[in-house]
Amino acid sequence: MCGIVGIVGHPEASNLAYLGLYSLQHRGQESAGIISSDGQKFHKIRRRSLVSDAFNKDAIKFLKGNVAIGHVRYATTGQNAQRNVQPLMATGAFGNMAVAHNGNLTNFVELQKQLEKEGTLFQSTVDTEVVLHLIAKSQKGTFIDKLLASMEQIEGAFSLIFLTPEGIVAVRDPHGFRPLSLGRLDQGGIVVASETCAFDLIDAKFERDIEPGEVLFIRNDGTMQSYSLKPKPKFSKCVFEHVYFSRPDSNIFGKSVYDSRKELGKQLAKEFPIEADLVTPVPDSGVISAMGYAEQMGITMQMGFIRNHYVGRTFIEPSQSIRGFGVKVKLNPVKSVLQGKRVVVIDDSIVRGTTSKKIIKMIRDAGAKEVTLLITSPPFLNPCVYGIDTPTKAELLASRMSIEEMRAFIEVDKLGFISLQGMYKALDFKPSEFCDACFSGKYPTAVELPSSPPSA
Ligand code: AMP
Repeated sequence: MCGIVGIVGHPEASNLAYLGLYSLQHRGQESAGIISSDGQKFHKIRRRSLVSDAFNKDAIKFLKGNVAIGHVRYATTGQNAQRNVQPLMATGAFGNMAVAHNGNLTNFVELQKQLEKEGTLFQSTVDTEVVLHLIAKSQKGTFIDKLLASMEQIEGAFSLIFLTPEGIVAVRDPHGFRPLSLGRLDQGGIVVASETCAFDLIDAKFERDIEPGEVLFIRNDGTMQSYSLKPKPKFSKCVFEHVYFSRPDSNIFGKSVYDSRKELGKQLAKEFPIEADLVTPVPDSGVISAMGYAEQMGITMQMGFIRNHYVGRTFIEPSQSIRGFGVKVKLNPVKSVLQGKRVVVIDDSIVRGTTSKKIIKMIRDAGAKEVTLLITSPPFLNPCVYGIDTPTKAELLASRMSIEEMRAFIEVDKLGFISLQGMYKALDFKPSEFCDACFSGKYPTAVELPSSPPSA
């Protein structure tokens, strides 16, 4: 769960990278970093904080140069250390290089062991570091050949942006798990970002997606050269990007996420036409799907919850325990909307089930007469090893319980999940081009399920 951005050929490269990261903040809130290049030197600022706290005017001035890459990170447990904050940087025989990574390398442990045997000293515990070592050790002649050879040794999910003194290199793995798009800045210059919502803020026009298996070298002067990784692409784009992860104002894998969420809501209505007084979303993730459900059913959508958008990590919990505090501080039910009503609640997924249980309790406490919970994804049965932060299989509610058991656990009157087929129908995607391992258990690469995967 990370967001990455790269800017080439603009005098305010680091400022635009900063704004791009601002738009990608939803992809990771643990740390933020930018490394810029003035053609001679690299300049870096990396902090364990939100984007708005990590940089100020002085920081942007310090990040000199016409080229910059940036990263926001969501770390899994125990991994939120300063040494893991990206972009990572290294200096080798070829000079400086830095990299920002979104995804998760599935052969990381194997590669790390092999490299350690050969005497490599690791500075971080993040999987991305193996990429730097592979490039540094490669016997190929040019930097791009070293990079291509290294990319063919790593497996799993990797959307990467490299910074080199000559420009940036954007890479998307042959499966295309994570998104990565190319845009042109109105005032001249090129941008690469995880999501197209980053383009809108900086007046960039979407040009195209970086293709699965593509390595695109964008030089400081704006010239570009595209290379293809072997093996040939076997698309396995992450369906969960459309269900939950990406921002609805982004176009991901060629389709508006907003439209996808609306269609998912409509499909839910076809599969579960519940007689109810109102539909309400769990904000923000369920909002657009709830609109789709309401439209399809011809019932009203109301905001049964108001979300506090200003919740940071720093609030001080009361010393006396307040039931469900973590959820309550973010979401507050609107009694006048819910009282005495038969309510359909729409959310995108149930992972551990703990939040859902608290939300349903709040709706009941607010006086709802009957509560149905409908989910715009199929039961989440398997951990993601491709970059979405998920708990172990044992912690996933759906892997431990039947739907009826889940309903009883969450204490809701009715519980429904969209079918896998229905999800694809709503999204209008070919299932063969997508990864849905979290729902189906069909992992598109060889995987060893770790107890806690490192995520980049
Ligand atoms: P729970 O009921 O505890 O499983 O929480 C479900 C909520 O977690 C839903 O509202 C989702 O939007 C949200 N969610 C889904 N996937 C993730 C994830 N990988 N990390 C954090 N939250 C998530």
